[in-house]
Amino acid sequence: MTIMLLSVEKINVRYGRNHAVKNVSLNLADGEIITVLGANGAGKSSLLKAIQGTEKIESGSIIYEDKDINRWGAPKRVQSGLVLVPEGRQIFISMTVEENLLMGAYSRKNADITNEIEMIFERFPNLKERRNMLAAVLSGGEQQMLAVSRALLAKPTIMMLDEPSLGLSPILVKQLFELIKDINTEGLSILLVEQNTHMALQYADRGYVLELGNIVASGTPADLLADKKLAKAYLGGD
Ligand code: ATP
Repeated sequence: MTIMLLSVEKINVRYGRNHAVKNVSLNLADGEIITVLGANGAGKSSLLKAIQGTEKIESGSIIYEDKDINRWGAPKRVQSGLVLVPEGRQIFISMTVEENLLMGAYSRKNADITNEIEMIFERFPNLKERRNMLAAVLSGGEQQMLAVSRALLAKPTIMMLDEPSLGLSPILVKQLFELIKDINTEGLSILLVEQNTHMALQYADRGYVLELGNIVASGTPADLLADKKLAKAYLGGD
């Protein structure tokens, strides 16, 4: 039986007269990777912020683990497992690598995360080598790995990632998607916002296409890629 973890139902986000997210509905089942695709300004970040609780919705509802979380603030959402890796990574460059990781566990009161941090260092030897250095010295790829690791320390049920591949070389993009697949296999459900449509559709179970705040298509990667008009307009196809 499919267990629905997250259901976004007809939500609207508005900035003054700019109606950024229009009646958007989507759902994420336990264990899935879904992706939201769309051009700059399509409303992807606004959608994630609405789910995370840092942007207010004007109407609609967000159901997480069968609970209506509309009135929950962002900290409560994080604590209950809805964790966002924001666009641009937003790591703390004047803190060390290890301090950044500790910040990820901020919402987990008194948790002993020593083992979890060591497991992250095992996975990313580059971060281990630089654990006591300022995060500013990390390359773009290492910063993205740190951002994902920091999010892992918040113990997510759902990890939302906002354009994680931005600015990374093709090799690092591949590594990043492999990491996303690994953490999905380990039990996390993933909501991935991407402009790298080809990679996102290789790894996702289902996708949604957002255009000027509207969902204009959804389905399996095969469905989306089979729609020639769609592929040309939004997916970079021929
Ligand atoms: P990008 O890939 O450029 O981040 P996006 O698909 O994530 O694009 P959003 O950042 O959600 O899109 O923006 C959707 C629309 O809302 C755009 O027209 C944008 O200018 C507008 N917008 C976003 N944030 C704000 C804000 N804080 N105040 C006013 N308008 C905003």
